[in-house]
Amino acid sequence: MQSMYKRFGISDYVINLKKKMDIELVNTYEKIEENRQYNFYKVLSAMQNANLSERHFNWSTGYGYGDEGREKTEEIYAKVFECEDALVRTQIVNGTHALTLMLKSVLKTGDRIIFITGIPYDTLHGTIGLGEDKEASLMEMGIECEFVELNDDGTFDKQMVMQQIKSGDTDRTYIYLQRSSGYSGRAAITIAKMKEMFSMIKEKYNDMVIMVDNCYGEFVEKYEPTEVGADIMAGSLIKNPGGSLALSGGYIVGKAKLIKRCAKVLTTPSIEKECGLTFGQTRSIIQGLFFAPEIVSNALKASVLCSKMFSEMGFDVIPKYDDTRSDIVQIVKLGDKHKIEAFCKGIQAASAVDSFVVPTFADMPGYDNQIIMAAGAFVQGSSIELSADAPIRAPYNVYFQGGIMAGHGELGVMMAYQNVLDLDK
Ligand SMILES: *Cc1c(COP(=O)(O)O)cnc(C)c1O
Repeated sequence: MQSMYKRFGISDYVINLKKKMDIELVNTYEKIEENRQYNFYKVLSAMQNANLSERHFNWSTGYGYGDEGREKTEEIYAKVFECEDALVRTQIVNGTHALTLMLKSVLKTGDRIIFITGIPYDTLHGTIGLGEDKEASLMEMGIECEFVELNDDGTFDKQMVMQQIKSGDTDRTYIYLQRSSGYSGRAAITIAKMKEMFSMIKEKYNDMVIMVDNCYGEFVEKYEPTEVGADIMAGSLIKNPGGSLALSGGYIVGKAKLIKRCAKVLTTPSIEKECGLTFGQTRSIIQGLFFAPEIVSNALKASVLCSKMFSEMGFDVIPKYDDTRSDIVQIVKLGDKHKIEAFCKGIQAASAVDSFVVPTFADMPGYDNQIIMAAGAFVQGSSIELSADAPIRAPYNVYFQGGIMAGHGELGVMMAYQNVLDLDK
């Protein structure tokens, strides 16, 4: 093994450190495996209950009327996330689109939305209308957008949330929560914390609709936001639930009447879910979902190792290796641009695809800052695969995630570690 590691430029020091960390992580790995098994059974039983059959992998052309596979996919998604209905479509181009579709479908002119985890992920700023260009944004639609920041320790400012809700017309107020860290320095919101906050809101305002950005969160815990009070949530198929096999797409799951509105906006009011070609993607999407709990567990193991090794080197990490996780993202507070580049080069060099490419900061559609993205992925930009990214802005955190094969994530972590270590030489 030692000589094999040498092929990837990993020193004896890093090999030995990793071995030592693995021993200390045994209990953490075990918990991840138990969670994987629970979620795997959840997915498997949903497929069995839906009578998934080989014929569902066929597809049609044109309008795509009566596409049984498309309908089966949505039935299975609804079951897995304990929801009344689902929209799972290749026509949804990414996670941002799924979230935007959810927001623009559920909200009407004159409504008010409170973002209870502060300003959301960078690519949604345009959707809200936070920048100069407000064209086709929520603000242009005449929707009031309000933000309640989390406390410094990443917990909800519950009093502030309740006060903010009460300060306006509660009958037209909606709640939005982002589960994953995004490019912030906070950990993901755990399901336990969500449950507490949602119960507090629903106790007073039973009908208030709660929306969740579930990107990077699927199958990280035993329960999903929709099982603890969220009414509707959305995510990307090239993250956790696509299991690295889905080539593209997004999902929205939730209450039937809300999904109906989303379908009306995605297609047309008279067509709703009845049209939409699957382009032969049904099998990949469903098999990806079948793989997803396993793949998420591999990603989590890599994140835990990353957390442990980099904190050993003296960096602040979020979350700590033994914290309860609610997304697959590992934040390392590298604190400087060159260290981020070194980290990302290590991840890129560990990839199977484009391993020879050197990642660098560049402009990306939807982002205000320049972004560095390391991802030698089989599916373009797929961040359930081994990847790391960072915006070029203080405090210079790097965001690490993915690694679909058990041994791949750890190799990426070791190569990133080696590169950051070698910077000081
Ligand atoms: C990835 C992500 C999104 C959506 O990103 P896309 O690249 O458009 O799929 C939204 N919110 C969060 C928190 C994310 O991590």
